[in-house]
Amino acid sequence: MRAVDIIIKKRDGGKLSSDEIRFFIDSYTDGKIQDDQAAALMMSIFFRGMDYKETAALTLAMAESGDQVDLSGIKGIKVDKHSTGGIGDKTTLIVAPVTAAAGVPVAKMSGRSLGFTGGTIDKLESIPGLSTSIPVKKMIDIVNKTGICIAGQTAELAPADKKLYALRDVTGTVESIPLIAASIMSKKIAAGADAIVLDVKYGSGAFMKTKEDAQLLADTMCGIGEEVGRKTVAVLNTMEIPLGMCIGNSIEVIEAIETLKGGGSDDLKEHCIHLAGKMIALGLRIGFEEAENIALETIRNGSALKKFGEMVKAEGGDPAICDDPIKVLGTPEYSMILKADKSGWIEKTDAYKAGMASFTLGAGRTVKTDPFDPHAGLRLFVKCGVKVKKGDPLCELYSSKPITDESVRWAKDAFIYRRKA
Ligand code: URA
Repeated sequence: MRAVDIIIKKRDGGKLSSDEIRFFIDSYTDGKIQDDQAAALMMSIFFRGMDYKETAALTLAMAESGDQVDLSGIKGIKVDKHSTGGIGDKTTLIVAPVTAAAGVPVAKMSGRSLGFTGGTIDKLESIPGLSTSIPVKKMIDIVNKTGICIAGQTAELAPADKKLYALRDVTGTVESIPLIAASIMSKKIAAGADAIVLDVKYGSGAFMKTKEDAQLLADTMCGIGEEVGRKTVAVLNTMEIPLGMCIGNSIEVIEAIETLKGGGSDDLKEHCIHLAGKMIALGLRIGFEEAENIALETIRNGSALKKFGEMVKAEGGDPAICDDPIKVLGTPEYSMILKADKSGWIEKTDAYKAGMASFTLGAGRTVKTDPFDPHAGLRLFVKCGVKVKKGDPLCELYSSKPITDESVRWAKDAFIYRRKA
């Protein structure tokens, strides 16, 4: 088999066989196929697409390119959750302890932030002392003891995806439904859970800009899950506006704790209960309505917050964070309240621009090895459908370095006023 023939076949609109896909992925992972040919194939797939069978074969080849986590040492149905990324998306920090408190074991591997979208691991590691570099064996021990562990993805998990994702990032081939579906599902399959709940975002702050594309991505990923014997369900959610009121790292941990205590904004709470309901329904094999009620009860009775504290302790952080998050997390060196420069209706807060404000404050990273600022981010005081007067506070910006005009500009532009009729 020759890589060039596979590229030409896809370039001309042909369907690749499982053997051709396996050969290409294995050879690329081993360094026998170079970036130039892999980029050509990615671009051909970008334009020509892939059917379900091809996408499932690509997913499996990527999932099997490295270690496959064996979670059989944990009793019960292990349910994983994946969000396609967004602004202010701290759902894992809430949904995982809620699900674990309901009796469904959560052994989850998460990623770091990239670009303007946040990552669960950076949010968790903004907790002093907490480290998510946890070997699989230790992760299993923690789950068997506490019912919950969120760990960083190991380098050995789906290495083909790691190489291909970096390549797609610099060759304009990220926004392809089969490529995104295979990338996400290969990591989920390799991470070993029995069932998967997908939180698929659409809107300005997401990869998928329209609901139709998000539905297609969701259907593709559910199809792959079924094909490989992992029960997979998807929930669609808008990312036109940020989720909740906080964007960043430690500031999102604070909001997650507020939500686990029964507070927090309604959109965040409702979305988390919905996702946790799906996970609990799959894990306990019960109806969705009953599962949602159980999820709500874990917040009401404090057991979800307790689980969060147990996880923080097991991963090296101070569980006192549940009582006094600001004392444990510390306060940012610089902060600034942005005020409305005119009166009017705030129609919406644009997710992408708010994400860019957080990114330029230091919360994100351009490449995965960049350091991140745990304190950087913003808290919104208004989000959508509210009247403001000139001088009213819109949001507060936080950083460990002096706040730049660029960050202020992104934050200011994020507040979209309703135009006069
Ligand atoms: N997230 C992933 O893990 N992969 C993609 O291709 C896009 C988003």
